[in-house]
Amino acid sequence: MISAGLYVVATPIGNLEDISARAVRTLNEVDLILAEDSRHSGKLLQHLGVHTPVQAYHDHNELKVVDFFLERLRANQSIALISDAGTPLINDPGYHLVIAAHKHGIRVIPVPGPSAVISALSVSGLPTDRFVYEGFLPNKQAARRKQLAALAGEQRTLVFYEVPHRICACIGDMVDYFGPDRIATLAKEITKHFETIRNDTLAGILDWLQEDPLHQKGEFVLMVHGAAVDTGDELESVRVLKILLHSLPVKEAVAAAAKIMDGKKNRLYRLAVAIKDKG
Ligand code: SAM
Repeated sequence: MISAGLYVVATPIGNLEDISARAVRTLNEVDLILAEDSRHSGKLLQHLGVHTPVQAYHDHNELKVVDFFLERLRANQSIALISDAGTPLINDPGYHLVIAAHKHGIRVIPVPGPSAVISALSVSGLPTDRFVYEGFLPNKQAARRKQLAALAGEQRTLVFYEVPHRICACIGDMVDYFGPDRIATLAKEITKHFETIRNDTLAGILDWLQEDPLHQKGEFVLMVHGAAVDTGDELESVRVLKILLHSLPVKEAVAAAAKIMDGKKNRLYRLAVAIKDKG
């Protein structure tokens, strides 16, 4: 008999063979499965031969139904939480239930497995000893650019989730803030038929996406190499630009900084835009 508690169970992100034996056993043995979309998960459960009752738990009802499921957990039942794909709570619902369970001393048990972020990093060819997971960037361009400006100097590998209709616009904005030559890896349709992993510059990845509309279809993880370690030069450029930007527009501040610092205008321009956007 499985013990009582909330089991957070990872499911495949494409290839159904990626489900773990422990995940299948857990899904079979719990009293109830909470699924982000019961129809979607119904197909996986049918494929696995799991007949446990399923109820919906998604972004729209999460807050309303927490107490109901919490009562069942407090009555010593076992519940498995799954999402449409990958690991629950990683850009998927479950946060409110997990904190409520902790608050009431209920065991929360991970049943680990696939997640797009870790799968993508493992094949990225980028440094993985330290990374920053940013999830989805804001939909609105102004907010997205502000966030990218704040990330321009981040030295750890950056990881983003993206959707087809925004992927080119996002990379276009990254080219503006991180520079066209920043190395990145695009992981598309991981574990699926059209799986593609491209390690290139941001500009190179954007070219590839734009050369065929089919390249823009599917699910994406975009990973960007962190900024080069701040050199004295970089810090000095920022200091000089900040002073000049007080009284000059960006273009003139960059031209003046280029003369003072003997620096490349492209690099100074990116720094100036990032300083401006950060306010
Ligand atoms: N919980 C999931 C996880 O553990 O990765 C993430 C869910 S989030 C709502 C969905 C996003 O994850 C997609 O838009 C895409 O960015 C990324 N993703 C999920 N599956 C993927 C796959 N097979 N290949 C590439 N990216 C994927």
